[in-house]
Amino acid sequence: MNKRERIKVLLERLPLLYPDARCLLEYGGDPEILLIATILSARTTDSAVNGVTPRLWNEVYDIRGLARADISLIEDIVHPLGFFRSKARSIRKAAEWLLKNDGLPDTIDGLIQIPGVGRKTANVIIGVGFNKPAIIVDTHVGRLSGRLDLTRSKQPDKIESNLKKLLPEDNWTSFSHQLGFHGRQVCTSRNPSCGTCDFKSFCPKRIS
Ligand code: SF4
Repeated sequence: MNKRERIKVLLERLPLLYPDARCLLEYGGDPEILLIATILSARTTDSAVNGVTPRLWNEVYDIRGLARADISLIEDIVHPLGFFRSKARSIRKAAEWLLKNDGLPDTIDGLIQIPGVGRKTANVIIGVGFNKPAIIVDTHVGRLSGRLDLTRSKQPDKIESNLKKLLPEDNWTSFSHQLGFHGRQVCTSRNPSCGTCDFKSFCPKRIS
């Protein structure tokens, strides 16, 4: 099966396997709150982030309050997520930037100007916050794209551009979520369940 044929099967089966695939960060429909949650989600789980953000917004109230909050308070709140000093600095700087620049841009080029925001975070904001097509290359999407031989690259930027060439634009965001769910539930990093995987018949990396 060539790459185009594999994509066709994935586009057919993934929506059936993961009809509820979506971003699991809680953000109340506000793209700026999503930005802060996404920055905090680096190297941790969405559920861990959801465990600290209610207290964060309780304490600082909004983006303006976050920009002016005492750094030690923010560090204390985000401490359970790890890398708490850099995460506290990043979210406060992002909040300061939003205040200074009158809110959130709705383009990748605009979003990556915000301190602490790379392409992955920018694509979450575009795809989830603004509901526009976006390929979100998190650790799961990166791993699965390699295992299913959709790309030979390990660099997120190149994986993103390779997937963009293979997928219809309307499917970019949903495909990212669905592939991510498959990575969390079946094709895990250390112990992929190839025996029960729906894609084992054509996956070049299946191990059993
Ligand atoms: S067959 Fe195995 S390696 Fe391939 S996608 Fe499925 S779980 Fe992952």
